[in-house]
Amino acid sequence: MKKQFIAGNWKMNLALEEAKCLARKLCDGLSGSDAVDVGVFPSFVYLKDICDIFRGSSVFVGAQNLSMEKSGAFTGEVSGEMLRGIGCTHVIIGHSERRTIYQETDSIINSKIKAALLNDLSPILCVGERQEERDAGKTCEVVEGQLSVGLETLTSEQVKGLTIAYEPIWAIGTGKTATPDQANEVHAFIRKAIRNKYDNGTAQSIRIQYGGSVNSKNAKELLSQLEIDGALVGGASLNAGSFLDIVSDAVRVL
Ligand code: PEP
Repeated sequence: MKKQFIAGNWKMNLALEEAKCLARKLCDGLSGSDAVDVGVFPSFVYLKDICDIFRGSSVFVGAQNLSMEKSGAFTGEVSGEMLRGIGCTHVIIGHSERRTIYQETDSIINSKIKAALLNDLSPILCVGERQEERDAGKTCEVVEGQLSVGLETLTSEQVKGLTIAYEPIWAIGTGKTATPDQANEVHAFIRKAIRNKYDNGTAQSIRIQYGGSVNSKNAKELLSQLEIDGALVGGASLNAGSFLDIVSDAVRVL
């Protein structure tokens, strides 16, 4: 039985004091419970402060992106080594907002995963289809393509350390959630694709989160699906009460 992994993607939200206040509330609310893995992903500029608040707790702190480069003349970029140096343990890679707004391709995403692994950061690789791709019956094809290039040349040992977040683009920030059956079906497909590319052990050890308008009302049913090992939460992670409720739901489905 894998531990569920609930991650909060704070995106480009909150003033510094609000971010610190949210982190302190989560730190208090989660103290002493480690039945579920929990991670928060604040903006780059708050990472050091938030890492300091969670130091000594079991909560992971990670970045929402990283550079695929090691160091050098890359104005505005942040390297894996820098993230590791301030205490980050995780990084979100290939979020649909990075893919669509900043034109990140699967091959850039593959390089970023390698940069993360080189620096001992655990990647959360996001995949998912657009509404028109789902309507055209192409969900599996799209997700398979993202996995195939995104994981190119990675070994099974490297892939075992990865989390995959299935985030249908049409469900992100829209209030529209995939039904538990729809999500479970794609998660099963992702696991099968990993099994085919690697082996059963790798497919079983990888955690697959669902993301897309997860909130305290729909989390329990989604998380109780066999193939769903956690959630990547955007909007609802900005409120301590809602996020803690989702974590409690994950504990309840154990
Ligand atoms: C996300 O951005 O990863 C996300 C799932 O957002 P929301 O929960 O707001 O849909």
